[in-house]
Amino acid sequence: MKKDKRAKRLFGTNGVRGVAGREMTPGLVFQIAAAFGSMRSGRFAVGRDTRTSGEMLLSALKAGLLGTGCDVVDCGVLPIPALQFIVKEEFDGGAMITASHNPPEYNGVKIIEADGTEMGDEDTIKLEHILSNHSFAVKPWDSVGRETSAPDLINRYIRAVVRQFPAGIGKGMLVAVDPGSGPACRTTPEILRELGCRVLSVNGFMDGTFPGRLPEPTPEGLSALSALVVSSGASFGVAHDGDADRAVFVDEKGKYVEENQEFALIARHLCHQQKGVVVTPVSTSRLVETVALAEGCTVQYTKVGSIHVARTMHALILDNTPVVFGGEGNGGLIFPAHQFCRDGGMTAATMVSILASEGMNLSDLVARLPKRFMIKEKVKTSDAPQVMKRLKKVLSGEQIDKTDGLKIIRGSTWALVRASGTEPLIRIIVESDDKTSAETFFGEIKRSLGEALP
Ligand code: MG
Repeated sequence: MKKDKRAKRLFGTNGVRGVAGREMTPGLVFQIAAAFGSMRSGRFAVGRDTRTSGEMLLSALKAGLLGTGCDVVDCGVLPIPALQFIVKEEFDGGAMITASHNPPEYNGVKIIEADGTEMGDEDTIKLEHILSNHSFAVKPWDSVGRETSAPDLINRYIRAVVRQFPAGIGKGMLVAVDPGSGPACRTTPEILRELGCRVLSVNGFMDGTFPGRLPEPTPEGLSALSALVVSSGASFGVAHDGDADRAVFVDEKGKYVEENQEFALIARHLCHQQKGVVVTPVSTSRLVETVALAEGCTVQYTKVGSIHVARTMHALILDNTPVVFGGEGNGGLIFPAHQFCRDGGMTAATMVSILASEGMNLSDLVARLPKRFMIKEKVKTSDAPQVMKRLKKVLSGEQIDKTDGLKIIRGSTWALVRASGTEPLIRIIVESDDKTSAETFFGEIKRSLGEALP
């Protein structure tokens, strides 16, 4: 139990993150890497995003692995899905220095297993145990690891994405890309060009100060991308977060495509081609289930967090259940024919494939989706677990799904109430077919939560 608490304190749902030089020091990164290197052996691929603290922390990461006898191959700056693909193909593991969508002063570490997925909870607890006991298996001079660099391994990822699509599928299509000065500068424009598209970029130079926009791709931050799409007459614009495992879109009119609608569009396209299961967390819009069912597919819900989606997809496939696709309603989508992690480059390429085969504008495709209305809110509380217990009693007469938190289902209307894993708050999501029903249900849920709060 004690170990579980420690695991949550250092590693969250997406690796370890903090402000560089404050929580995220070279000393901590060295210890994380030395603990990882004490658990595993062999050849490890490492890389980083474009943050200014990346070189400093990657040096510490490499020192920890080399000192515990692991050979290290430095892949330089690259998207995390590229590193995950490279690891899956030919390494015993990997690690990435990145803070994904966090602001520029943050950085962090993600540990990748030999199959390309992030380290699971059980092994992460073991790693933290080694770290807190300082029981590192540091090697003597004649058995330390060796370092080589392989900045071109990224091309294997680019080619692997391109191979998933018919040659020249994007011929004649103009696409605007906003890699946000992040590592996708090295991949997404090239992937799209390889598919036959013409490509224009904004924030297309790697820069860890993120001069054009923050690493989180928000509608407000993408105004330059929208303007470029409109002025150039591009078919769509695509933008990534700071490690490029997510992709979000603006349509040909420069309008932001809400991420659940993006998920539904891609799900419909893939479910049209192949029958099976779509995997997604309980927090995703019902829209995805609606389009999947209409195409003769089903949806399997998981706990919130991409690792749960990825591992469920993997388990279903091992069980001979066909899995079409998976992902989260934040632009983080997983394509099992390619690899079991979120992949922004693959998502961008899939949009090319959709527009090429549908023969319609992106805005028209979005407009044809069923309408849903979602409300999200955070409620601060210092004792979320107790509040959740009391709320369960208050809601005892309802139909509740307990996959993650409490999901109250009333026909096509639902509400998800769950304690945050990282902050002292409770998150509420309510969704319905129309605004009035969503607001009415949201009011009811807030009143029930009010009864459960101290
Ligand atoms: Mg990310």
